[in-house]
Amino acid sequence: MNDASASSSSLPLPRRIITALGQWIDSDYCPEGAEKMRASPDRVDLVRIMPFIFLHLGCLAVLWVGWSPMAIWTAVALYFLRMFAVTAIHHRYFSHKTYSTSRPVQFLLAVWAATTVQRGSLWWAYHHRHHHAHSDGPDDVHSPHVHGFWWSHIGWITSRRNFPTDYSTIKDLAKFPELVMLNRFDLVIPVLFATAIFGTGQFLAHVAPALGTNGPQLLVWGFFISTTFLFHGTACINSMAHLMGRPRFKTDDDSRNSFILALITLGEGWHNNHHRYQSATRNGFYWWEIDPTYYGLKALSWTGLIWGLKSVPQSVLEEGAHADHHASVAAARRAAVHAEHSHSPLRHVVPAAAAIAVATVNSANTGMAPKAVAPAVHHQDPSAAPARNRADSTPGRAPAQVGDSDRS
Ligand SMILES: [Zn+2]
Ligand SMILES: [Zn+2]
Repeated sequence: MNDASASSSSLPLPRRIITALGQWIDSDYCPEGAEKMRASPDRVDLVRIMPFIFLHLGCLAVLWVGWSPMAIWTAVALYFLRMFAVTAIHHRYFSHKTYSTSRPVQFLLAVWAATTVQRGSLWWAYHHRHHHAHSDGPDDVHSPHVHGFWWSHIGWITSRRNFPTDYSTIKDLAKFPELVMLNRFDLVIPVLFATAIFGTGQFLAHVAPALGTNGPQLLVWGFFISTTFLFHGTACINSMAHLMGRPRFKTDDDSRNSFILALITLGEGWHNNHHRYQSATRNGFYWWEIDPTYYGLKALSWTGLIWGLKSVPQSVLEEGAHADHHASVAAARRAAVHAEHSHSPLRHVVPAAAAIAVATVNSANTGMAPKAVAPAVHHQDPSAAPARNRADSTPGRAPAQVGDSDRS
């Protein structure tokens, strides 16, 4: 343990509680200095974990407030509306700048994202860019392969060392004072949001008592339950998306593609695709990879509020198609070997199914546009995290950061 970690961990408990209270109001408040805080031991901090306990305990209040269809539909709607904010705003805009917008709309997007109760967009983007730069390496703060499942899922957020925002690494975002203010006082929007939900419930109880809801009930379902599910759904990308599913691309990390995770996170489940090429607005690279976040952003671009959606380069699409082809051939060979040693009536069916899969991929490949004769012109996106994919250093493969605009 170095001197810095020793000094921060040796603070008496009352002072740590007072410091934490100050930080819940002003997240840039670091009396011992942000650098010292970042040098704290990498472990669960009992004071820092209190907001998560409060959030989860709030769900238990359902035993007192009961339920109504209105309350449940509110929870579901606010889950998906805010999951869209996590994926489309925290992730695909602030972390990777995969599309452009005006400064006023950028501020409104940051306010919308703040209702997710996942700290400010600048804190979110700082940690996410760090994840891409160190994916599944010793410095990755939430790798399930380095720290275990529970640390990658929730533990890392409760560690004091991951609390401060390092503005020096996100200068492209920190130059906007309105964004810094939202990031610094990151409790304001969630409190206003919860108050608005409570007020709506009270209003409905008076004007539409037939709905059977009220302020406390709508607060428990619309805020506590919805936000708890939203947190765990999002956290699954840090934990499960590096454990569950299929890796299509060979990257320097253990990211996977998962249809199930794509459903609960509105498209973020295509995580291996995303680790291969981070600058695209879409994470589902092919039409069959469902990506509701991309569909929403595409629709939003028709209004003119956002523009410059970035597409996946043809070279990356071809690389993925070839990887799928080789995976199908390998599956067909495995099925044939198993069929030789099997007495199951399915032994003729399984190789046939694999052969159909191979034929399907082959036919898809024949419809693919030919490679460009001249090399594509790529440029580095200074806002995006440095790519660490070994694929990017392989000749013939596209760099991870490309600024192609989606004109489809
Ligand atoms: Zn990302
Ligand atoms: Zn990842």
